Amino acid sequence: MSDALFDKLCLIGIGLIGSSIARGARRHNLAKAIAIADSSYEARKDAEALQLGDLYDADPAAAVQGADLVIICAPVGAYAEIGQAIAPHLKPGAILSDVGSVKQAVVRDLGPLLPDHVHFIPGHPVAGTEHSGPKAGFAELFEGRWQILTPLPGADQAAVEKLAAFWRGLGSNVEIMEPSHHDQVLAITSHLPHLIAYTIVGTATGLEDSTQREVIKFSASGFRDFTRIAASNPIMWRDIFLNNREAVLEMLGRFSEDLTALQRAIRWGEGEKLEDWFTRTRAIRRSIIDAKQA
Ligand code: NAP
Repeated sequence: MSDALFDKLCLIGIGLIGSSIARGARRHNLAKAIAIADSSYEARKDAEALQLGDLYDADPAAAVQGADLVIICAPVGAYAEIGQAIAPHLKPGAILSDVGSVKQAVVRDLGPLLPDHVHFIPGHPVAGTEHSGPKAGFAELFEGRWQILTPLPGADQAAVEKLAAFWRGLGSNVEIMEPSHHDQVLAITSHLPHLIAYTIVGTATGLEDSTQREVIKFSASGFRDFTRIAASNPIMWRDIFLNNREAVLEMLGRFSEDLTALQRAIRWGEGEKLEDWFTRTRAIRRSIIDAKQA
């Protein structure tokens, strides 16, 4: 068996994403040892029962000792607290990365806390499900999906390449991006769709009782797909909206304008306008399928 890329991988947060990394890293021999820190006793107990790691700790400062790769896999709102706890204990030359769904706020919250002798390379796997917790993870989650890395100017290229190799080892395709560009792209491809799903499902639950029962009974694929997205982790999504405020508000403004245009087309019976719009969107779906991202 060839040598593992890293001697000690430390995962802080062992939910859906952290546990999927642990499983993949084991399967593909990417780290010799895996240390797991999670503030939740239940999560640590489940992770241990699933044998996801070699060491389990409530204290992230203890778990990062000697680790040459540390990946924060907790909700973004917890990063500043985690950063403060681990910063003095990070090994010189270690890579510190994360999987948070926003990137500028991560740079803002973690950047100033970290010693110069650590390679800080934020990241975001564009892969996930609506499920949470260590039991929800699976080793194939990242296969064929994009891993976006957002290294800061002047980042050590060898460290970036080593982290990219880790993600390629998990089956991902790696793309390098500016944090601000990442946040804009994800605002439209992920954050806004979640906001719309949360809105539609919330509106349906606000209907009077008899209609609400029928919404559940006759939930055809349209509404059903929205309920799947709207079942996503409330804490994680609260943190995403609070930490990608500018980009989400910008995309929401554009969305509202387009919604008003469609509303107008319906009101004035402009069938051709509707058909044109729906034809264009259908083509986008086809290109996603062609890109194997469906
Ligand atoms: P998850 O399944 O809820 O797991 C997060 C884990 O982190 C939980 O066990 C949580 O414990 C723990 N945690 C919370 N605060 C902590 C702290 N201060 N120190 C240590 N552990 C802490 O969440 P997830 O879906 O894996 O998401 C984790 C990160 O991945 C988020 O930043 C999210 O933006 C990103 N992400 C998620 C997806 C997705 O589809 N889910 C996709 C890409 C990226 P408690 O349960 O007690 O809070």
